[in-house]
Amino acid sequence: MIYLDYASTYPVYESIIKQIPDILKEYNFNPSARYKPALKSKDFLYSMRKKIAEYLNAVPEQIIFTSTATEALNTIIKGVNIKHKNKVIVSNLEHKALLEPVKNLKSADIHIMEIPKGYVDFDDLLDVIDEKTRIVSLMHVNNESGALCDVSEISEKIKKNYPDILILSDMVQSFGKIKTDIKNIDFAVMSSHKIGGLKGAGILYAKHPEIIKPLIIGGGQEFNLRSGTENILSIWSMYEALSITKKNFKEKLSHLEMLNKKLIEFCKKNNFTINSPEKSVPWIFNFSTLNVFSEIMINHLSSKNIYVSSASACSGKSKSHVLQNMKFGKKITDTAIRVSMSFNTMEKEIDIFCNEIIKAVDLLS
Ligand code: PLP
Repeated sequence: MIYLDYASTYPVYESIIKQIPDILKEYNFNPSARYKPALKSKDFLYSMRKKIAEYLNAVPEQIIFTSTATEALNTIIKGVNIKHKNKVIVSNLEHKALLEPVKNLKSADIHIMEIPKGYVDFDDLLDVIDEKTRIVSLMHVNNESGALCDVSEISEKIKKNYPDILILSDMVQSFGKIKTDIKNIDFAVMSSHKIGGLKGAGILYAKHPEIIKPLIIGGGQEFNLRSGTENILSIWSMYEALSITKKNFKEKLSHLEMLNKKLIEFCKKNNFTINSPEKSVPWIFNFSTLNVFSEIMINHLSSKNIYVSSASACSGKSKSHVLQNMKFGKKITDTAIRVSMSFNTMEKEIDIFCNEIIKAVDLLS
């Protein structure tokens, strides 16, 4: 099997799978209970929160554990008061987990920016940002194109002129890989299953948690901001996966850059279009063959045990709103393929993938 769909979900690291029985045995008590073994679970949960906070340069009270990044984004969008300042600025390339709750905001002045170049920069915001703006969202790495946004630089510029604007950043595809200065970022979200941890854990980082109204109420867990017994196993796995991801990242990055370069050369040689902007991370690469419909290509590759996608897996559809909103023509959007890689992706696997693409284009176009 050649798996090249890490942006949709990242297989759980073997070392994590091996430790699961022990973690379950040790820490399966309810962390809110009062007896001794439960206190051990509570301390364990706190230690995860503390370590993740340290990684983000935050404090533990700013880390709220959720079930997914989708839940974290919904909590922010639905939970922040937008009565007095009600403008919410997002780009149309954001993930649906943000776009949909934003579109559902009743009392907001929603501004959905068009940014055909693929990523937001400060100049894009100059025309739309104003005194009425409450939230600006800056997706860090786009999950379909790999486009990289200079979140810390832009947020610093925004805060200089508009200190009260709340900056939100979806860091799902960059978590553990790009260390970002969150000094000027008010909210960020991350997800366990995108970095090799278990499904069922997400992070909502909030600089000022007290300004959010909880989406889920009940027993008052997570500082009253997300009720429900914490999923200690998934939260632990998320921390473990983060530790693995960030370790020796520089070396891992140069390996990914080499693979990315290989894909660029491959596209150039075969006259395929490269849809990822130049300013992209190397682990997500989007291109179009122009000849074979994405769905047909994906099914064909799947029959060869090569797994890629054409758009966000969450959309359930093969057409990408990201590529459409980047104003690529029908031919490009209809034939797009997203390759998303891990540090363990081997050069040989990329070679096999490229060969299969060529064969498929000959066979199917
Ligand atoms: N944001 C981005 C950029 C994503 O890629 C995804 C998942 O596809 C999400 C948010 C949603 O993450 P989760 O699956 O944890 O809800």
